[in-house]
Amino acid sequence: MKVSVIGTGYVGLVSGVCLAEKGHEVICVDVDPRKVENINRAEPPIHERGLDELLQKNVGSRLRATTDLAMAVQNTDLSLIAVGTPFKGDEIDLRFIRQAAADIGQALRGKSGYHVVVVKSTVVPGTTENVVLPELESASGRKAGIDFGVGMNPEFLREGEAIADFMAPDRIVLGGIDEKSTDALAELYAVFADVAKIRTTPRTAEMIKYTANSLLATMISFSNEIANLAAALGGIDVVEVMRGVHLDKRLTPILADGRRVIPGFTTYLEAGCGFGGSCFPKDVKALIAHGEKAGSPMRLLSKVVEVNEAQPARVIELIKRHHPELKGLAVSVLGVAFKPGTDDIRESPALPVLETLLGEGALVTVFDPIATKPLQAAYPSQPIVFAPDLHAAVNEADVIVLMTRWGEFKDVPALVSGRTRQPLVVDGRRMLDKQSVARYEGIGLREA
Ligand code: NAD
Repeated sequence: MKVSVIGTGYVGLVSGVCLAEKGHEVICVDVDPRKVENINRAEPPIHERGLDELLQKNVGSRLRATTDLAMAVQNTDLSLIAVGTPFKGDEIDLRFIRQAAADIGQALRGKSGYHVVVVKSTVVPGTTENVVLPELESASGRKAGIDFGVGMNPEFLREGEAIADFMAPDRIVLGGIDEKSTDALAELYAVFADVAKIRTTPRTAEMIKYTANSLLATMISFSNEIANLAAALGGIDVVEVMRGVHLDKRLTPILADGRRVIPGFTTYLEAGCGFGGSCFPKDVKALIAHGEKAGSPMRLLSKVVEVNEAQPARVIELIKRHHPELKGLAVSVLGVAFKPGTDDIRESPALPVLETLLGEGALVTVFDPIATKPLQAAYPSQPIVFAPDLHAAVNEADVIVLMTRWGEFKDVPALVSGRTRQPLVVDGRRMLDKQSVARYEGIGLREA
């Protein structure tokens, strides 16, 4: 199939490159000419494992990028909209969605032949039919369902695992306004033969995505609330508590040979310094706002956000148990990406921690294996020292704070073991053995 993908961020670019790899002819479109140039040179504008190779393989044959949206729509049968959908204080910000729909609609004016427009961005239930469809109709002067098709196809990839997730999805949701639109989506994804597919309406498709993200965010805040209670009570380690909970065979089923299945979602039932990223925080807030407008307040989800937003301050509290005065304290923050495997720092819990440390006069060093560039861009004039490697980062630190679960941070105990003045290690992710360093503090833990 000939496909155009509008927006080449994490979702658009990964979708475009993977669909090309699967045999489709793909044109990626972005308003940012630098991203377009990078893609056409097969240079990944973002960090994602495997993206490099797939770009090299497909650019120039089945994949190209352009800023010319009209040309892309003219030369394809289906357009996926994958632009950003931020949250703007009291509701989802649909500015980029509206613009993309208006531009596609304009391009459809001069196009002969049936075209299907599919929303891949995460949008609140009703958006595809109540916002995108009318925008397309008014810009094109044509009728949806007759002259062109409309659909909604949410994306479930996880940053850091984006290529693997897209190439081997667990489900594909096909939400068309009519059979013909859903059939076009089914044809696009026919290359994923054995994957469970749900044919549904656009608004159910939109709701599936929000429900999935809200469930995972709820599990994280639930675990963090339990962690905070464990710390308040003292003498209870939340890691042990959660181990006991996970061993419930409804969570980790026991196979006939006695081995355990460890489902991925148990990682969301682990305590830490909170969730971040470009999806969970904004999506949960958007659903809360949408529920409010619909007269169905999302009380539980409001608390999920509240618990999450308070969690980074726990890390500061742990430092202050030992060092009440942060001024002049040498603090190394390890990890600024919101999770391992990505260079995305959007809404990372490391950011409020960094801001408090800087605000209170700590001498801050940062190390992240790949996310220092976006941090430098976000904080250009802050007195942050960017360490070139983990060893340099921990060498002189009074306090070491682990904010991202990067595997290499497991080396911290070995790196500090020989030091005469032992640093305090504050484990925001509970990823180290608490006995492995002389001075340890972690979320969900306080000696009785
Ligand atoms: P992003 O901000 O990384 O990328 C969006 C891109 O769209 C940018 O490159 C921007 O320049 C481009 N753009 C904006 N307006 C445009 C226009 N009119 N025409 C062409 N290009 C335009 O966003 P993202 O992280 O890829 O997320 C995109 C959507 O997918 C969001 O709705 C998000 O919630 C959803 N989503 C994201 C993830 C994720 O892990 N990042 C996972 C699933 C779903």
